[in-house]
Amino acid sequence: MLVFDCFFGRCEKPSCDGCLLKPVRSLRVMLKSRSMGDFEEDVPQTDEAWKKEVEKVLAGKSAHTKPQASGKRKKRLLVPREEIPWYPTINPDLCNGCADCKVLCKPGVFEPGPPDPEGIHRPKFLVAHPYKCIVLCDRCVPICTSGAIKLPPKEDFEKYVEYVDDNA
Ligand code: SF4
Ligand code: SF4
Repeated sequence: MLVFDCFFGRCEKPSCDGCLLKPVRSLRVMLKSRSMGDFEEDVPQTDEAWKKEVEKVLAGKSAHTKPQASGKRKKRLLVPREEIPWYPTINPDLCNGCADCKVLCKPGVFEPGPPDPEGIHRPKFLVAHPYKCIVLCDRCVPICTSGAIKLPPKEDFEKYVEYVDDNA
């Protein structure tokens, strides 16, 4: 049924424009958004920001430690963001163009690809801005219910990140 296709992001209409089931799509996105929790927006994403962070580390103002179970800690990158190949990939054969990744990834990593030349299917999505991806974030993997989004193993990337107290 179309309503279930919409709810599970399997609808194949070329766009949601004018569709009566838009509230169903909104509900789906809202539920996924809730399950994602808060984004970590404290990780420096610009050249200037990371340079300042690296200078702080070199000046010995912080130590590389694992996060503690209690108490809020911030992540800091130890090398320039562009030297860390942490970002998702999308399997185009599995992507159905539901756009949930674009709506729910606040840093803006995803963009729609070119339109379907036959105008039947939604555009598939692309990882248009890989270095906007927050290092070690993996929230888009479960929200892509098609299983199209993959990330590399987290354990290979812990070496690029340190955890510091919120007031450091
Ligand atoms: S990658 Fe997944 S969440 Fe993003 S548009 Fe494709 S199917 Fe939807
Ligand atoms: S892991 Fe996914 S949700 Fe998180 S910042 Fe990267 S692209 Fe966005």
